[in-house]
Amino acid sequence: MSGKSPNDLRATVLLVEDNPDNRGIYRTILEHNGIEVVEAEDGENGIRLAREQLPDLILMDVSIPGIDGWEATRILKGDEKTSGIPIIALTAHALPSDRERAAEAGCDGYIPKPALPRAVLREVERMLGLTGD
Ligand code: MN
Repeated sequence: MSGKSPNDLRATVLLVEDNPDNRGIYRTILEHNGIEVVEAEDGENGIRLAREQLPDLILMDVSIPGIDGWEATRILKGDEKTSGIPIIALTAHALPSDRERAAEAGCDGYIPKPALPRAVLREVERMLGLTGD
């Protein structure tokens, strides 16, 4: 319990997602709940921004151009500078194999798409220990 109001800036989340509509939806609900959002639309920029900004958490769409979300997660988890940042994978296929893949890549959490904005917010808050209710 931080004692902060929901409108205080509570954390920074890096959102790696190539779909602009999804970026807008997730950004809106996170920002509305006091979470700063940094966006990347591909794997290379996601890795770069993670290293530059050291966000509190990363939401990683696994299906992104260039370096995909699985590989980007492996790279970030293999770099001691970024290995401690929790990564939640967003994947369009709710297959058991994707859950295994998420664990193998080093993801800390997993949300099957389509992910309702509220579900994304809840998982981000839970993982950051921000649930005040
Ligand atoms: Mn995608």
